[in-house]
Amino acid sequence: MSLPAWHKIEVTAMHPYPVFLDVPLEELGEYLQNRLGEDKNFFIVTQANIAKHYGERVKKGFKTARVHLITIPDGEQVKSLESLSRLTTEAIHCRIDRSSIVIALGGGVIGDLAGFFASVYMRGIHFVQVPTTLLAEVDSSIGGKVAINHPEGKNLLGAFYPPLAVWTDFSVLNTLPWEELQNGLAETIKHAIIADREFFAFLESHQKKIVQREIPILKEMATRSLAIKVKIVSEDEREQGVRALLNLGHTFGHALETEMEYEGISHGQGVSVGLVAAAYLAHFRGFLSKSELERILSLLQTLGLPISISGLDPIKLLNYMAADKKNKDGHKVLILPKGIGQAIIVRDCTDEEILQAWKMVIK
Ligand code: ADP
Ligand code: ZN
Repeated sequence: MSLPAWHKIEVTAMHPYPVFLDVPLEELGEYLQNRLGEDKNFFIVTQANIAKHYGERVKKGFKTARVHLITIPDGEQVKSLESLSRLTTEAIHCRIDRSSIVIALGGGVIGDLAGFFASVYMRGIHFVQVPTTLLAEVDSSIGGKVAINHPEGKNLLGAFYPPLAVWTDFSVLNTLPWEELQNGLAETIKHAIIADREFFAFLESHQKKIVQREIPILKEMATRSLAIKVKIVSEDEREQGVRALLNLGHTFGHALETEMEYEGISHGQGVSVGLVAAAYLAHFRGFLSKSELERILSLLQTLGLPISISGLDPIKLLNYMAADKKNKDGHKVLILPKGIGQAIIVRDCTDEEILQAWKMVIK
C-alpha cells in the first residue's frame, strides 16, 4: 500500500507515531500486518453501535482469523476499574499476550479505556487509535493521554502512553449524531482560537456547510484541527509548557461540568460556555477586541453551541476553579485568547475578574 504524503502526519514526540488521514478502515489490517507481521493477535475494543457500523469493515482487512472484537457499553461510566478487569479477563481468554495489539475503535471513551488497558496489561502492549467521533479524531486520540475514572474523580488513574499509530477514516462521521459532532466542533473552534486565525475564518465562511454536514468540508476541517493538536503535543508532550494552551475554555468548562455533575451538559457545551467566559475575560483585559469577541460568540452560536447557561451560582463556580490542578501557589492559572489565533497563560487573574466573566455567561 502506498499513500500520498499528505495522508500522514507525524507526532514527533519522544516516541513518534504517525497519524493517518482519511484512510479506509479496511486498510488498517494490511498496514498493521505489514508493519508487525501476520502472526499477531489483535484485540479490538469498541461499542455495539460502532461494531454494527464499522466492525466488519475493520476485521475484513486482516488476513488472519486472530482478530477478537470486544464490546463495552456506552457512556463515560465505563471508564472504570470494573471495565479494566473485564477487559483483562476477555484478553486472557483470547490469548492476548505481550506481542498482541489492542485496537481502540471508538470515541474518546473507548480511546481512554482501551489505551489505559493497553498501558497496563502485561506491563504494556501496543495499541492503535481508530477514532470514530470528531472529538476523538481532532483531540483525544492524539497526544498519548489515556485514563480511567475513579469514584474520587475523573481521569484519576492514567498514563502518557502513545499509540503505535492513529488511523482516521473520516467517513465514519456520516453516522455520528449531530450532538456528538458538536463536541468535536467546540474543540475545533478552540484550536482555531489558540493557533490559527485563518482557520477560524475558514470555519466562519463554511459554517452553513458544516451544519449541513458536507463531508469534504468536515474532512478539511478535521484535518486542520487535528494538525494543530499534533503540532502542539509534538512541541510539548508532557504538558510542561505550550500544551497547557489546549486548556482554553476548559477551566471554566470543567467547573460547569462539575457543578452540574455531568448531567444535562455535554463536554462540548461546557467548553463552549467556557470559551465565551475566557473570551469576555480577555476582552476586559484588552487582549480581545469587541469585534473579535463577537466573532467568537457568533461562530459558536451558528454551530448550535451554547454561549450562556442559566440558573447557576457564579460564586460556587469560582470555588470549583480554586481546586483546579493547574493552579500554582494559590493563583488561578487561566488560558486566555490574545486576539484570534493566539492564546496565553495568565497567572494573575483576580477573583473579581473571573466572577465578572462568569456573570457574562450566566443568564
Ligand atoms: P467522545 O468521543 O466525545 O468522548 P464517546 O466516546 O462517549 O464520545 O462516544 C459518544 C457516542 O457516540 C457513543 O454512544 C458512541 O457509541 C457513539 N459513536 C461513536 N462513534 C460513532 C460513529 N462514528 N457513528 C455513530 N455513533 C458513534
Ligand atoms: Zn476537551
